[in-house]
Amino acid sequence: MPSSNEALRQESVKKILLHTCCAPCATYTVNRLREMGFDVTAYWYNPNIHPFTEHRNRLDSMRAFAQTIDLPLIVAEGYDMISYFRAVVGHEGERCGDCFRMRLDRTAAVAVENGFPSFTTTLLISPYQKHDLLREVGEEVAKQNEVEFYYQDFRTGFRESQQLSREFDLYHQKYCGCVYSEWERFGKIDIAKMLGST
Ligand code: SF4
Repeated sequence: MPSSNEALRQESVKKILLHTCCAPCATYTVNRLREMGFDVTAYWYNPNIHPFTEHRNRLDSMRAFAQTIDLPLIVAEGYDMISYFRAVVGHEGERCGDCFRMRLDRTAAVAVENGFPSFTTTLLISPYQKHDLLREVGEEVAKQNEVEFYYQDFRTGFRESQQLSREFDLYHQKYCGCVYSEWERFGKIDIAKMLGST
């Protein structure tokens, strides 16, 4: 039987499901959420990471990191690459919204199924993501799934996450995730401009 103080402490701990895009972005984000009193569980669902071997490398790194910092991690079964392409083909220049929606909608649903009152995402730490769109999509899927989206601008911790990532010797990706982003990174192109979407 916990003491009354312990019961109070347990009551004040807020469970949160953290969608994780990769281990480096999880470093600072998990620390920060824990400091704020959240009981964090990570969730992996990233069908936007191509090719399969890159997805495997990032997931392996996330698994190892989670074990190191004693972070519970739920991994979605399978590799949903085909669903990702079905969602973005035809509007590749504006694909990020659908990519966010796929991942965050699944996270919100898993949060509800497993009794988490809220969810959030490590994507909020990246200065390279479309931050406002990410927030908008997070709030939209939260409403649809009747669960809270915890928003915080984690970008202030981006430098620290890079430092932590080096300290933990984590696998570091060279592009956002999808084959389109890989082409943009190494081909020095902008698909939205190429397709006239902007
Ligand atoms: S660039 Fe990144 S966020 Fe945008 S669609 Fe590709 S993987 Fe998703």
